[in-house]
Amino acid sequence: MQGPVREALLWEKLPSGEVRCNLCQRRCLIEPEGLGYCSTRVNRGGVLYTLVYGAISLYRPAPMEIKPLYHFHPGEWAFSLGSWGCNFRCSGCQNWEIAHIKLNPTFAL
Ligand code: SF4
Repeated sequence: MQGPVREALLWEKLPSGEVRCNLCQRRCLIEPEGLGYCSTRVNRGGVLYTLVYGAISLYRPAPMEIKPLYHFHPGEWAFSLGSWGCNFRCSGCQNWEIAHIKLNPTFAL
């Protein structure tokens, strides 16, 4: 197996063939061949895989003032680093192209 597909961390195998992802607070119950809410984790044959291991969607320095922070090191720069998918659905999301991308959950084992 190559690329950003890896067996995930922090999950449980269930007798039904479903898996429970414990990576974030959503704790998705994922049916066979199903995706988690974030669309980055897939249940393949009762094993949970991440589709974005080491996959970077964006990295760049940016002025602190564009960050959603209040009076945090004003005038400084922040380094942003992110991947694909998101476990939130905020109205007015400014990163929807990367946050809500539909990843291809098919891959060869
Ligand atoms: S949203 Fe994604 S990371 Fe969070 S529990 Fe569901 S599958 Fe896991």
